[in-house]
Amino acid sequence: MGTPIKDIKIPENAPNNILLDKHIEFIKTYEESNKYEYIMTEYLRMSGVYWGLTAMALMKRLDSMDKKSIMEFVQECQHDSGGYSASAQHDAHLLYTLSAIQIHALFDELEELDKEKVSNFIASLQQPDGSFYGDKWGEIDSRFSFCALASLKIMGKLDRVDVVKAVEYVIRCMNFDGGFGCTPGSESHAGQIYCCVGVLSITNSLHLINPDLLGWWLCERQLPSGGLNGRPEKLPDVCYSWWVLASLRVLGKIEWIDKDKLANFIMASQDEETGGISDRPGNMVDPFHTLFGVAGLSLLGYSRKDIEEVNPVFCLPQSVVDKYNIKIQIL
Ligand SMILES: [Zn+2]
Repeated sequence: MGTPIKDIKIPENAPNNILLDKHIEFIKTYEESNKYEYIMTEYLRMSGVYWGLTAMALMKRLDSMDKKSIMEFVQECQHDSGGYSASAQHDAHLLYTLSAIQIHALFDELEELDKEKVSNFIASLQQPDGSFYGDKWGEIDSRFSFCALASLKIMGKLDRVDVVKAVEYVIRCMNFDGGFGCTPGSESHAGQIYCCVGVLSITNSLHLINPDLLGWWLCERQLPSGGLNGRPEKLPDVCYSWWVLASLRVLGKIEWIDKDKLANFIMASQDEETGGISDRPGNMVDPFHTLFGVAGLSLLGYSRKDIEEVNPVFCLPQSVVDKYNIKIQIL
Protein backbone atom coordinates (compact mmCIF):
# COMPACT_ATOMS: atom_id res chain seq x y z
CA MET A 1 0.00 0.00 0.00
CA GLY A 2 1.31 3.47 -0.90
CA THR A 3 1.18 6.34 1.53
CA PRO A 4 -1.99 8.45 1.10
CA ILE A 5 -1.41 11.69 -0.79
CA LYS A 6 -1.21 14.76 1.46
CA ASP A 7 -3.42 17.38 -0.10
CA ILE A 8 -6.21 19.84 0.67
CA LYS A 9 -9.74 20.17 -0.65
CA ILE A 10 -10.67 23.48 -2.25
CA PRO A 11 -13.74 24.86 -0.45
CA GLU A 12 -16.86 25.18 -2.63
CA ASN A 13 -17.19 28.91 -1.91
CA ALA A 14 -13.52 29.75 -2.59
CA PRO A 15 -12.88 32.65 -5.02
CA ASN A 16 -12.53 31.53 -8.63
CA ASN A 17 -11.57 34.76 -10.39
CA ILE A 18 -8.60 37.11 -9.97
CA LEU A 19 -9.12 39.93 -7.45
CA LEU A 20 -6.34 42.29 -8.55
CA ASP A 21 -7.94 45.49 -7.21
CA LYS A 22 -8.17 43.86 -3.80
CA HIS A 23 -4.50 42.83 -3.90
CA ILE A 24 -3.43 46.33 -4.87
CA GLU A 25 -5.36 47.64 -1.89
CA PHE A 26 -3.80 44.97 0.37
CA ILE A 27 -0.21 45.87 -0.55
CA LYS A 28 -0.96 49.59 -0.41
CA THR A 29 -2.49 49.29 3.07
CA TYR A 30 0.53 47.30 4.16
CA GLU A 31 2.79 50.13 3.06
CA GLU A 32 0.68 52.97 4.40
CA SER A 33 0.24 51.55 7.86
CA ASN A 34 4.02 51.11 7.96
CA LYS A 35 3.57 47.44 8.48
CA TYR A 36 6.83 46.85 6.65
CA GLU A 37 8.44 48.56 9.57
CA TYR A 38 6.48 47.36 12.55
CA ILE A 39 4.87 44.10 11.57
CA MET A 40 6.98 42.66 8.78
CA THR A 41 9.63 41.09 10.98
CA GLU A 42 12.73 43.24 10.88
CA TYR A 43 15.04 40.49 9.76
CA LEU A 44 13.05 40.12 6.52
CA ARG A 45 12.18 43.71 5.83
CA MET A 46 14.28 44.35 2.69
CA SER A 47 12.81 41.28 1.04
CA GLY A 48 9.35 42.27 2.25
CA VAL A 49 9.68 45.59 0.45
CA TYR A 50 10.83 43.78 -2.72
CA TRP A 51 7.85 41.36 -2.56
CA GLY A 52 5.33 44.19 -2.23
CA LEU A 53 6.92 46.35 -4.93
CA THR A 54 7.23 43.53 -7.44
CA ALA A 55 3.63 42.48 -6.85
CA MET A 56 2.58 46.09 -7.49
CA ALA A 57 4.81 46.33 -10.58
CA LEU A 58 3.29 43.13 -12.01
CA MET A 59 -0.18 44.57 -11.34
CA LYS A 60 0.94 47.82 -13.08
CA ARG A 61 0.64 49.98 -9.98
CA LEU A 62 4.25 50.60 -9.00
CA ASP A 63 3.64 54.35 -9.43
CA SER A 64 1.41 54.37 -6.37
CA MET A 65 4.28 53.32 -4.06
CA ASP A 66 6.39 55.86 -2.16
CA LYS A 67 9.65 55.63 -4.11
CA LYS A 68 11.48 58.32 -2.16
CA SER A 69 11.02 56.87 1.31
CA ILE A 70 11.65 53.32 0.07
CA MET A 71 14.95 54.32 -1.57
CA GLU A 72 15.97 56.11 1.65
CA PHE A 73 15.28 52.93 3.61
CA VAL A 74 17.37 50.91 1.12
CA GLN A 75 20.31 53.35 1.40
CA GLU A 76 20.22 53.06 5.20
CA CYS A 77 20.65 49.30 4.90
CA GLN A 78 23.91 49.43 2.92
CA HIS A 79 27.04 48.60 4.95
CA ASP A 80 30.66 49.67 4.46
CA SER A 81 31.33 46.19 3.08
CA GLY A 82 29.02 47.05 0.15
CA GLY A 83 26.38 44.49 1.15
CA TYR A 84 22.81 45.22 2.23
CA SER A 85 20.96 44.01 5.31
CA ALA A 86 17.27 43.32 5.96
CA SER A 87 17.04 46.46 8.10
CA ALA A 88 19.55 49.01 9.34
CA GLN A 89 20.62 47.25 12.56
CA HIS A 90 21.26 43.85 10.99
CA ASP A 91 24.23 42.22 9.21
CA ALA A 92 24.66 42.44 5.43
CA HIS A 93 23.65 39.25 3.62
CA LEU A 94 23.46 38.09 -0.01
CA LEU A 95 19.68 37.51 0.29
CA TYR A 96 18.99 41.18 1.06
CA THR A 97 21.69 42.42 -1.31
CA LEU A 98 19.78 40.79 -4.19
CA SER A 99 16.50 42.31 -2.93
CA ALA A 100 18.13 45.77 -2.74
CA ILE A 101 19.41 45.45 -6.31
CA GLN A 102 15.99 44.28 -7.54
CA ILE A 103 14.39 47.31 -5.85
CA HIS A 104 16.88 49.59 -7.62
CA ALA A 105 16.02 47.93 -10.94
CA LEU A 106 12.26 48.23 -10.35
CA PHE A 107 12.54 51.96 -9.67
CA ASP A 108 14.93 52.51 -12.58
CA GLU A 109 17.68 53.48 -10.11
CA LEU A 110 20.41 50.99 -11.09
CA GLU A 111 22.65 53.86 -12.15
CA GLU A 112 22.58 55.13 -8.56
CA LEU A 113 24.00 51.86 -7.27
CA ASP A 114 27.71 51.72 -6.34
CA LYS A 115 28.22 48.60 -8.44
CA GLU A 116 31.94 48.32 -7.65
CA LYS A 117 31.32 48.30 -3.93
CA VAL A 118 28.41 45.84 -4.08
CA SER A 119 30.36 43.52 -6.41
CA ASN A 120 33.32 43.53 -4.01
CA PHE A 121 31.06 42.33 -1.22
CA ILE A 122 29.65 39.51 -3.36
CA ALA A 123 33.06 38.44 -4.69
CA SER A 124 34.47 38.33 -1.14
CA LEU A 125 31.95 35.61 -0.25
CA GLN A 126 32.94 33.12 -2.98
CA GLN A 127 34.82 30.06 -1.68
CA PRO A 128 37.61 28.07 -3.42
CA ASP A 129 35.12 25.32 -4.42
CA GLY A 130 32.93 27.90 -6.18
CA SER A 131 30.19 28.04 -3.51
CA PHE A 132 29.15 31.23 -1.69
CA TYR A 133 28.83 32.16 1.94
CA GLY A 134 25.57 34.04 2.57
CA ASP A 135 27.39 36.46 4.86
CA LYS A 136 30.47 36.74 7.03
CA TRP A 137 29.21 33.93 9.28
CA GLY A 138 29.97 31.34 6.64
CA GLU A 139 26.79 29.37 5.98
CA ILE A 140 26.84 27.76 2.50
CA ASP A 141 23.71 27.10 0.44
CA SER A 142 23.02 26.86 -3.31
CA ARG A 143 20.46 29.66 -2.74
CA PHE A 144 23.37 31.99 -2.04
CA SER A 145 25.00 31.01 -5.34
CA PHE A 146 21.82 32.22 -7.02
CA CYS A 147 21.68 35.47 -5.03
CA ALA A 148 25.32 36.18 -5.91
CA LEU A 149 25.08 35.45 -9.63
CA ALA A 150 21.65 37.06 -10.09
CA SER A 151 22.89 40.24 -8.37
CA LEU A 152 26.05 40.37 -10.50
CA LYS A 153 24.13 39.63 -13.71
CA ILE A 154 21.69 42.50 -13.09
CA MET A 155 24.66 44.83 -12.45
CA GLY A 156 26.61 43.53 -15.49
CA LYS A 157 29.44 42.37 -13.19
CA LEU A 158 29.52 38.57 -13.61
CA ASP A 159 33.24 38.79 -14.42
CA ARG A 160 33.93 39.66 -10.79
CA VAL A 161 33.63 36.02 -9.66
CA ASP A 162 34.81 32.61 -10.92
CA VAL A 163 31.70 31.67 -12.92
CA VAL A 164 33.06 28.26 -14.02
CA LYS A 165 33.64 27.22 -10.42
CA ALA A 166 30.28 28.63 -9.33
CA VAL A 167 28.54 26.47 -11.95
CA GLU A 168 30.62 23.42 -10.99
CA TYR A 169 29.47 23.78 -7.39
CA VAL A 170 25.81 24.03 -8.38
CA ILE A 171 26.13 20.90 -10.52
CA ARG A 172 27.59 19.10 -7.48
CA CYS A 173 24.28 19.87 -5.69
CA MET A 174 22.37 17.86 -8.35
CA ASN A 175 20.82 14.54 -7.28
CA PHE A 176 20.09 11.28 -9.12
CA ASP A 177 16.40 12.32 -9.37
CA GLY A 178 17.39 15.34 -11.47
CA GLY A 179 16.64 17.82 -8.66
CA PHE A 180 18.97 19.98 -6.55
CA GLY A 181 19.59 20.35 -2.82
CA CYS A 182 21.11 23.12 -0.70
CA THR A 183 24.55 21.45 -0.57
CA PRO A 184 26.02 18.38 -2.35
CA GLY A 185 24.20 15.23 -1.19
CA SER A 186 21.18 16.97 0.37
CA GLU A 187 17.59 16.19 -0.65
CA SER A 188 15.98 17.77 -3.74
CA HIS A 189 13.70 20.70 -2.97
CA ALA A 190 11.76 22.97 -5.36
CA GLY A 191 13.12 26.22 -3.88
CA GLN A 192 16.66 24.99 -4.34
CA ILE A 193 15.89 23.77 -7.86
CA TYR A 194 14.64 27.24 -8.77
CA CYS A 195 17.92 28.74 -7.54
CA CYS A 196 20.16 26.20 -9.28
CA VAL A 197 18.23 26.35 -12.57
CA GLY A 198 18.48 30.15 -12.25
CA VAL A 199 22.27 29.98 -11.93
CA LEU A 200 22.50 27.70 -14.97
CA SER A 201 20.20 29.97 -17.00
CA ILE A 202 22.12 33.12 -16.04
CA THR A 203 25.44 31.48 -17.02
CA ASN A 204 24.16 29.82 -20.20
CA SER A 205 24.89 26.36 -18.74
CA LEU A 206 21.57 24.54 -19.07
CA HIS A 207 23.23 21.91 -21.31
CA LEU A 208 24.73 20.46 -18.10
CA ILE A 209 21.38 19.08 -16.88
CA ASN A 210 18.76 16.60 -18.11
CA PRO A 211 15.63 18.75 -18.62
CA ASP A 212 13.34 15.72 -19.07
CA LEU A 213 14.36 14.11 -15.79
CA LEU A 214 14.14 17.38 -13.85
CA GLY A 215 10.91 18.39 -15.62
CA TRP A 216 9.36 15.09 -14.56
CA TRP A 217 10.31 15.60 -10.89
CA LEU A 218 8.84 19.13 -11.03
CA CYS A 219 5.57 18.00 -12.65
CA GLU A 220 5.11 15.37 -9.97
CA ARG A 221 4.76 18.25 -7.50
CA GLN A 222 1.20 18.90 -8.74
CA LEU A 223 -1.47 17.38 -6.47
CA PRO A 224 -5.13 16.54 -7.21
CA SER A 225 -6.19 19.96 -5.76
CA GLY A 226 -4.11 21.57 -8.54
CA GLY A 227 -1.62 23.08 -6.06
CA LEU A 228 2.08 22.25 -6.10
CA ASN A 229 4.24 21.09 -3.21
CA GLY A 230 7.97 21.69 -2.71
CA ARG A 231 8.94 18.04 -2.29
CA PRO A 232 7.19 14.68 -2.00
CA GLU A 233 4.67 14.20 0.80
CA LYS A 234 4.29 17.89 1.65
CA LEU A 235 1.13 20.00 1.40
CA PRO A 236 0.62 22.25 -1.64
CA ASP A 237 1.66 25.90 -1.22
CA VAL A 238 1.13 28.92 -3.51
CA CYS A 239 4.79 29.95 -3.35
CA TYR A 240 5.70 26.64 -5.01
CA SER A 241 3.53 27.60 -7.94
CA TRP A 242 6.35 30.07 -8.46
CA TRP A 243 9.47 28.00 -7.66
CA VAL A 244 8.24 24.99 -9.65
CA LEU A 245 6.53 26.84 -12.47
CA ALA A 246 9.40 29.26 -13.08
CA SER A 247 11.83 26.31 -13.26
CA LEU A 248 9.53 24.54 -15.73
CA ARG A 249 9.33 27.72 -17.78
CA VAL A 250 13.14 27.92 -18.04
CA LEU A 251 13.24 24.22 -19.01
CA GLY A 252 10.53 24.76 -21.64
CA LYS A 253 8.19 22.28 -19.89
CA ILE A 254 5.43 24.48 -18.53
CA GLU A 255 2.87 22.61 -20.62
CA TRP A 256 3.56 19.47 -18.60
CA ILE A 257 1.33 20.55 -15.72
CA ASP A 258 -2.40 21.24 -15.58
CA LYS A 259 -2.37 25.03 -15.82
CA ASP A 260 -6.10 25.57 -15.23
CA LYS A 261 -6.07 23.52 -12.05
CA LEU A 262 -3.05 25.39 -10.71
CA ALA A 263 -4.66 28.76 -11.53
CA ASN A 264 -7.77 27.62 -9.65
CA PHE A 265 -5.68 26.68 -6.63
CA ILE A 266 -3.99 30.11 -6.60
CA MET A 267 -7.32 31.93 -7.00
CA ALA A 268 -8.86 29.85 -4.21
CA SER A 269 -6.03 31.05 -1.92
CA GLN A 270 -7.09 34.72 -2.25
CA ASP A 271 -8.85 36.51 0.60
CA GLU A 272 -11.99 38.12 -0.83
CA GLU A 273 -12.37 40.53 2.08
CA THR A 274 -8.88 41.89 2.75
CA GLY A 275 -7.22 41.08 -0.58
CA GLY A 276 -3.87 39.29 -0.65
CA ILE A 277 -3.01 35.63 -1.25
CA SER A 278 -2.07 32.98 1.33
CA ASP A 279 -0.11 29.72 1.08
CA ARG A 280 -3.31 27.69 0.64
CA PRO A 281 -7.09 28.30 0.74
CA GLY A 282 -8.38 29.70 4.02
CA ASN A 283 -5.01 30.67 5.53
CA MET A 284 -3.71 34.12 6.49
CA VAL A 285 -2.55 36.26 3.54
CA ASP A 286 0.89 37.92 3.34
CA PRO A 287 2.94 39.91 0.76
CA PHE A 288 5.26 36.92 0.05
CA HIS A 289 2.46 34.61 -1.13
CA THR A 290 0.67 37.54 -2.80
CA LEU A 291 3.71 38.19 -4.99
CA PHE A 292 4.30 34.55 -5.87
CA GLY A 293 0.61 33.96 -6.51
CA VAL A 294 0.42 36.92 -8.91
CA ALA A 295 3.77 35.96 -10.51
CA GLY A 296 2.49 32.38 -10.92
CA LEU A 297 -0.65 33.63 -12.66
CA SER A 298 1.58 35.74 -14.92
CA LEU A 299 3.63 32.68 -15.91
CA LEU A 300 0.42 30.78 -16.58
CA GLY A 301 -0.57 33.56 -18.98
CA TYR A 302 -3.66 34.53 -16.99
CA SER A 303 -5.13 37.98 -17.21
CA ARG A 304 -2.50 39.20 -19.68
CA LYS A 305 -4.02 42.65 -19.99
CA ASP A 306 -3.94 43.24 -16.22
CA ILE A 307 -0.78 41.38 -15.16
CA GLU A 308 2.65 42.14 -16.63
CA GLU A 309 4.78 39.35 -18.04
CA VAL A 310 7.24 38.17 -15.38
CA ASN A 311 10.84 37.08 -15.94
CA PRO A 312 11.15 33.51 -14.62
CA VAL A 313 14.72 33.88 -13.28
CA PHE A 314 14.78 37.35 -11.68
CA CYS A 315 11.10 37.54 -10.65
CA LEU A 316 10.88 41.07 -12.04
CA PRO A 317 8.63 42.38 -14.81
CA GLN A 318 10.08 41.29 -18.16
CA SER A 319 9.94 44.96 -19.24
CA VAL A 320 12.47 45.84 -16.49
CA VAL A 321 14.81 43.01 -17.51
CA ASP A 322 14.54 44.09 -21.17
CA LYS A 323 15.21 47.72 -20.32
CA TYR A 324 18.61 46.74 -18.94
CA ASN A 325 19.16 44.26 -21.77
CA ILE A 326 19.77 41.39 -19.33
CA LYS A 327 19.79 38.07 -21.19
CA ILE A 328 19.07 34.64 -19.75
CA GLN A 329 18.98 31.16 -21.31
CA ILE A 330 15.56 29.51 -21.78
CA LEU A 331 15.15 26.05 -23.33
ZN1 LIG B 1 4.78 29.14 0.87
